[in-house]
This record gives sequence, structure tokens and C-alpha cells, in this order.
Amino acid sequence: MPERTPLISGNWKMNLNHFEATALLDKLRYLLTKEDTESVDVSVHPPFTDIRTVQTFLESEKVPIAIGAQNCHWEANGAYTGEVSPVFLAKLNVSYVIVGHSERRQLFGDTDVIVQRKVGAVFAHGMTPILCCGETLAEREAGAAHGIVTGQIHAGIDALKPDQVASMVIAYEPIWAIGTGQTASAADAQEACGWIRAKVAEMKGAEAAAAVRIQYGGSVKSSNVAELMGQPDIDGALVGGASLEAEEFARIIQFRLA
Ligand code: PEP
Repeated sequence: MPERTPLISGNWKMNLNHFEATALLDKLRYLLTKEDTESVDVSVHPPFTDIRTVQTFLESEKVPIAIGAQNCHWEANGAYTGEVSPVFLAKLNVSYVIVGHSERRQLFGDTDVIVQRKVGAVFAHGMTPILCCGETLAEREAGAAHGIVTGQIHAGIDALKPDQVASMVIAYEPIWAIGTGQTASAADAQEACGWIRAKVAEMKGAEAAAAVRIQYGGSVKSSNVAELMGQPDIDGALVGGASLEAEEFARIIQFRLA
């Protein structure tokens, strides 16, 4: 079975200007040891306006944290006022791009078709997509969670080759757990992530399923991360609110010490 290095990603959403971003990263680099960043991959996903500053800081200080984006357009260039090209992100050494976050799906109309195009564009420009999926509370209570998540995974990976799927990241983020303080239990999170891995195996084969990294997201904190990360099909965390504070985010990255 391939070794899946855990990936802990901080999604800053529309928080922290470029000065605040640098201050947070400056604290974070002193809190993390060489062992932390050798055993865990870490990415931060600042607002677009911070990315150049974050890149300059991380590269000049040689901090082993990957740069991520929260979204991108699917076209390389053109008359798309207000959008950001994946080409521009790649030029800033962005490694990971979150695609299909529930806030994008719910507030900005990112449909499965759009998500599929964006996933393709991220790969086409040499970056790794973090494909988000997850059900609402109403869908969960109606017993529809598996169907919803399966549909989102289908849309996100159908057009991809198995080796692309093997190299990507899928984030299971139940919408009722995002920003609510209500975390899925470790058992529920494992059940969903195990289901996703099984679906990937059906769609793209056992090798892709064994290699793809699956994150859990939804009110991850230093107090619950160790139990979540102890589950066999959970390979990382997509962290919103708790990534905005250096000490707390460092403790999450250091989940093995908990
Ligand atoms: C997220 O934004 O992806 C997220 C999981 O947020 P939070 O950790 O704040 O629930």
C-alpha cells in the first residue's frame, strides 16, 4: 500500500490581509520543527491578494509550507472580469487549489460542471486540486449523504485518468460541520472517507484509491485532530477557523504529539 503523507491545509477564506498573513506565517515557522514539516505536508490558502507576499516570505525564509489557493477560473485568459487564472497561480508557485468548497457551491453557484472544469484546469497547469465534497444536514437526515457525495465525486473525477486521481486530494467536508463548532465524530468521518475511497476504487481502480489523499474538514481543532487523524481513511485535515491563529494551527499540524 502506498505511503500517504498527511496533508494539513489552512483555508483562510476571506481573512487576513497580506501584513497579517506574513505575521501569522512568521509565528508559525518558529512553532514548527523540522520533524513536523518532514512528517506532514502543510499548505496555506490565503486570499488571492496575499499570495505574492506569502510566496516571497515562504521562499526567502525557506519555510517548507506549500502555497495554496481557494479557487480559480477554468480558462487560462480572457474576458472574465474579476476571475483569477490558474496560469497566474502556477506562476506564483501555488501547489494546491481548493475546488468546489461548499461556500463556493452554495454562495457563488459553483455547480458540478464548473467544479469538473476547474479540476481539469488545475491539473492542466501543473497544480494539485483539493476537491471538496459533503452533504448538508437536511441531506444527511434524509439518508441522502452517500448519494450526494458520490455524485460530487463522480463529477469531480470522471474525466480524470487514474494516475491523476492518485495524485489529487479529496476533502470530505460535511456542510453542517463547517464553521459551526460541530465536528463529525471520528467514526462518522471515517465512515464517509472510507465510502469515498471505495467509490474511487470502483471508478478509477484500487491503485488510485489506495494513493488518493482524503482530508476531513469541519471544525477541526487541536482537541479533536488526533482522533480524526487516527482513522485509517483520513489522511489530513482542511482547517478553516482554527488555521487563523498560529499556535492553534501549529498544534493541529503537530497532532501526533496530542
Ligand atoms: C473549511 O472552510 O473548509 C472549514 C472546514 O472550516 P472550519 O474549520 O472553520 O469549520
